Amino acid sequence: QAKQLGRKRFAVFDEALAKDMVDVLTMESELRKALRQNEFEPHFQPIFRLGDSTIVGYEALIRWNHPQRGLLKPSDFVRIAEDSGLIEAIDWRMFELSCRLLAEKGPAEPFITFNVSALHLRHVDFDTRILKMLERTGLQPSRLVTEVTEGALLDNPESVRATLERLRISGVGAALDDFGTGYSSLSYLHSLPLRMLKIDRAFVHELDKDGSTNSTTVVAAILALAHALNIQVIAEGIETQEQFDTLLRMGCEMGQGYLLGRPCPVDHWL
Ligand code: C2E
Ligand code: MG
Ligand code: MG
Ligand code: MG
Repeated sequence: QAKQLGRKRFAVFDEALAKDMVDVLTMESELRKALRQNEFEPHFQPIFRLGDSTIVGYEALIRWNHPQRGLLKPSDFVRIAEDSGLIEAIDWRMFELSCRLLAEKGPAEPFITFNVSALHLRHVDFDTRILKMLERTGLQPSRLVTEVTEGALLDNPESVRATLERLRISGVGAALDDFGTGYSSLSYLHSLPLRMLKIDRAFVHELDKDGSTNSTTVVAAILALAHALNIQVIAEGIETQEQFDTLLRMGCEMGQGYLLGRPCPVDHWL
C-alpha cells in the first residue's frame, strides 16, 4: 500500500513539476516579447530630505505592463528574469529609460538611483557602459547613484570595489541597499566608495513599536558609523509619522516610504 501511495505522490509531484517548467518557459518567452514590445517601465519613488521634506531624488523601480495580467512587480518576474539571464537586457533598458526621463523632464537637481544586480557587477565593463549610457541620455554623472546589495559583493568584493571606485571618479555615486539584512556588513562600509547607505525597512518598521529600544539602538549605531565615514543615510519604508519623527530626531538625513510617496509613473512627479 505504501508503494501505491508513493507512486501516486510521485505522479502528482511530476505533474506539478511539469507545470512549473511550463510556467517558467512561458514567462521566459513573455519576457523576451516584453523586451521587443517595450512593456517595461520605471516607476519613481521620491526620496525626501527629512529636514525640510523636499524631494532630493527618486529610486527607479521596474514595473512590467503585462498585456493580460496588468502591472507586475519585481517579485512577480525578476527571479525568472535573473535565472534566464534576461535581467541584463531588461535592466539596461530600464536604466536608460530612467536616465532619459529624468534628464528630459526633471529639474536640474534631483538624483536618480537604480538597483544593480550582482550579474552586472561581474562585467568588467559595467562602469564604461554606464558612462556611455549617461552620455547618450544627457544625464549628468553626479545625478546617478547605483544601488548595490551586500549579496552582490560576495563573489568578488575587490572587483566590485574597483568598479565602484572608477564610477566614483567619474562622478557616479553608489549606495549600499537593504543595509543590515545581509552578510558581514561592517567590513564593506569602510572599504567601498559609498555615497549613501540605505537602512532596510525591517529596522524602520520596528521603530514605533513597543519595546523598540533594540532597533533604535541599531539605527543609532548605523547612523553614527555612516556619518563617521562620511556616508549619507536613507531610511527605507517609512510608513508612519512616528517613524519619520524618530528618524529625523536621530539625524537621518533622507528617507522614502509609503508615508511620503509611493512608486508612481514619472508623470506623477515630473
Ligand atoms: P528595494 O531596492 O529594496 O526597493 C524597495 C522596495 O520597497 C520597492 O518594492 C518599493 O516599492 C517598496 N517600498 C517602498 N516604500 C515602502 C513602504 O513604505 N513600505 C513597504 N512595505 N514597501 C515599500 P518593489 O518596487 O516591489 O521592488 C522590490 C525589489 O525588486 C527592490 O527592492 C529591488 O531589489 C528589486 N528591483 C526593483 N527594480 C529593479 C530593477 O530595475 N532591476 C533589478 N535588477 N531589480 C529591481
Ligand atoms: Mg533599492
Ligand atoms: Mg535593492
Ligand atoms: Mg532596499
